[in-house]
Amino acid sequence: SSIQVGVLAEKLSKSSSEVIKKLMLLGIMATINQEIDFDTASMVAEEFGYAVVEAKEESIEEKLNIDEKDEPKDLVKRPPVITVMGHVDHGKTSLLDAIRKTKVTEREAGGITQHIGAYTVKVDGETITFLDTPGHEAFTAMRSRGASITDIAILVVAADDGVMPQTIEAINHAKAANVPIIVAINKIDKPAANPDRVKQELTEHGLLVEEWGGDIISVAVSAHTGEGLDQLLEMILLVAEMQELKANPNRRAKGSIVEAQLDKGRGTVATLLIETGTIHVGDSVVAGVSHGKVRAMVDDKGKRVKEAGPSMPVEIIGLSEVPSAGDTFYVVEDDKISRQIAETKKEEIREQHIHQTQRLSLEDLFNQIQQGTVKEINIIIKADVQGSIEALKQSLVRLSDDEVKVNVIHTGVGAISETDVMLASASNAIIIGFNVRPDNNARSIAEKEKVDIRLYRVIYNAIEDIQDAMKGMLDPEY
Ligand code: GDP
Repeated sequence: SSIQVGVLAEKLSKSSSEVIKKLMLLGIMATINQEIDFDTASMVAEEFGYAVVEAKEESIEEKLNIDEKDEPKDLVKRPPVITVMGHVDHGKTSLLDAIRKTKVTEREAGGITQHIGAYTVKVDGETITFLDTPGHEAFTAMRSRGASITDIAILVVAADDGVMPQTIEAINHAKAANVPIIVAINKIDKPAANPDRVKQELTEHGLLVEEWGGDIISVAVSAHTGEGLDQLLEMILLVAEMQELKANPNRRAKGSIVEAQLDKGRGTVATLLIETGTIHVGDSVVAGVSHGKVRAMVDDKGKRVKEAGPSMPVEIIGLSEVPSAGDTFYVVEDDKISRQIAETKKEEIREQHIHQTQRLSLEDLFNQIQQGTVKEINIIIKADVQGSIEALKQSLVRLSDDEVKVNVIHTGVGAISETDVMLASASNAIIIGFNVRPDNNARSIAEKEKVDIRLYRVIYNAIEDIQDAMKGMLDPEY
């Protein structure tokens, strides 16, 4: 928790300049509007003869006691949840379709599948849940909202094309989220397919496959011929087995919104992925600012269901408004509570707008380094050519010293995109653009997420800024 210098002064019945003076004596240069952390604030307060206790910040969930904790004895095995990632055109959609087709038998409710954003298949009597929204946008958006719903990431790499920029992006996203990767080397039916080259290129990005002595499982597949798909599914089960994924089906459900939209006839239609617990028709649900009773529920096969348990995706109708993908949903005791939580959430969002939690910007960096709250600087580099990236990366990493480590967590050629910003937001990173700019989407999201984007045309200037920030010599930008 933190407090503004001016607010602290008020609470201590002192003038701001008195507080700022005390801060200076403590070696902290602060302005009246600056946020200082609890420890610093209490030191100042003590100087003035006050004792300070930290108010515990309770989340709404805690306040209303809706997020019951599971006892280990209540936990049972649950299916793994899989995300498919990779470069555009490498076959993510084809692979998801192929798996769905081979595994969803005609016996299952009409055989007509419905795209609800996620689906399940049965392999050897075990269930696997696939998120049907390829690409890592959904994945990162969900992660930066604190929901980690993916257990395993399938990295699709076309055998005839090899590792490409979005492949690398996907690797970095999965690594940042600490999600195990299984590599699917796709399109091996093609004459130009060269799986060994793919494996070689992967090693350059820190993924060493098992057959070469590493711990990354890779499977050669073809979404077109179906070759290798069974093996891929087996491997998913194997990795899932090692993760010992568990949940408690005998409690009120909790999980994530996968996607949601407004349907003319049916109102809000939302796909939920249940993390733990069981959801029933008639349950009262709250998700972000949205609330309501589950009026009807269908599974991924388009079949009406009355209930759904852990790792199951279901589409529900009955919510008051459209929640965001990645929102956590809770089943609560009754409508009154769900409405109350949704209202509180709205209030909280309104307040956040006024009092945005500050993410790391270059200006703050020095203070945070001084206070010991920052020991690492995460940086994302986007540039017009690969050569500049390499040059920048090497120079920046070399700035690391005993106190502060500079990490380049992601690089790429091209404009700064929405996914770059989401990754920066999730990893508290600063984005450096060299001869590139953010696209419009990225710009507005960066503003919302308070991500610091710095644009340069001269490599030296970028290095100098980071160096100055580390030393506390950066001139503020206005
Ligand atoms: P995505 O952008 O990663 O979702 O890629 P798509 O699934 O849309 O596939 C891109 C292109 O590659 C399409 O023309 C597919 O038909 C083709 N494709 C996908 N998988 C395979 C495969 O296993 N073999 C061959 N020969 N083509 C494939």
